[in-house]
Amino acid sequence: MRDAIPSLTIVVPCYNEAEAFIYCVDALKNILIDLISKQKIQENSHILFVDDGSKDNTWLQIKQAAGQSSYVQGIKLSRNRGHQTALIAGLSAVDTDVCISIDADLQDDTKCIEQMIDKYIQGNDIVYGVRNDRSTDSFFKRNTANIFYGSMSAMGVNQVENHADYRLLSKRALAALLEFKEQNLYIRGLIPLLGFHSDKVFYTREERIAGESKYPLKKMLALAIEGVTSLTVTPLRLICGMGFLTCFLSFLAIIYILIAKFSGHAVEGWTSVIISIFFLSGVQLLSLGVIGEYIGKIYMETKQRPKFFIDEKTND
Ligand code: UDP
Ligand code: MG
Repeated sequence: MRDAIPSLTIVVPCYNEAEAFIYCVDALKNILIDLISKQKIQENSHILFVDDGSKDNTWLQIKQAAGQSSYVQGIKLSRNRGHQTALIAGLSAVDTDVCISIDADLQDDTKCIEQMIDKYIQGNDIVYGVRNDRSTDSFFKRNTANIFYGSMSAMGVNQVENHADYRLLSKRALAALLEFKEQNLYIRGLIPLLGFHSDKVFYTREERIAGESKYPLKKMLALAIEGVTSLTVTPLRLICGMGFLTCFLSFLAIIYILIAKFSGHAVEGWTSVIISIFFLSGVQLLSLGVIGEYIGKIYMETKQRPKFFIDEKTND
């Protein structure tokens, strides 16, 4: 149990969220005011919007909201860097006892914020927001997500299933997360590596309040590859295993071919030759691709480039 009332920052990454923003800021402000009046969080708590280089007037709206309410703050990144980096930019600016990250589209139930704070008071450092069901997702998204989680756990990666980036982090859990210096970020995969006491709150995910998803298939795929390559080298081991198996099968084939040749039964063999060429070149190209993915990652990591630049802050 913790005795002191915590101060809270709600971190919200926004990319072209002009349509959803007004609903979002209202809902979160109400939650904040309610929790302050119940003395669950400190008066100096606030909402931090991170404008991830939006092309619409999201930043203008953030600035206006910040001008109208002392609970609202904003930072604007110099260009679009993607959800995970925008989140890290926001988290890096947190100076309160706890922070909660949430998307701007209100798909994640804001009522859970209070439960998350309660669980923090009970002594947890991490509280995961977990979806009860995926019925609001498309058939495609639901199934690809299942395949992804299934194969990740088969590769020994420990992830909280149906949890995206809606979570509470205590000050020390956040400090630990920020010690991970990798360029390519897959935050939800790193959190279970932190340890500390954790708990979950469950909720039903709603439809987006307004606007469209900012996660097209291409970005989803990139995040999935990021997840695999940043958390496990199992694909490389699988390639190794595949190589061993192919060598073993080739060895058997050589014995068969030699026996056939010396017993005078050598056949024309066009079909088997052409099939093995196609199959083996496919396997080799795929393997090279997977290895390339890891090498590319090493290359990007060695550059140690800065992850983001802040263009403007509302309280400058
Ligand atoms: N987002 C971002 N940068 C991006 C893409 C998305 O900051 O390049 C934000 C977006 O504004 C939202 C959150 O990330 O607050 C999740 O995006 P979205 O709701 O579009 O994803 P979905 O729920 O469809 O997976
Ligand atoms: Mg969403």
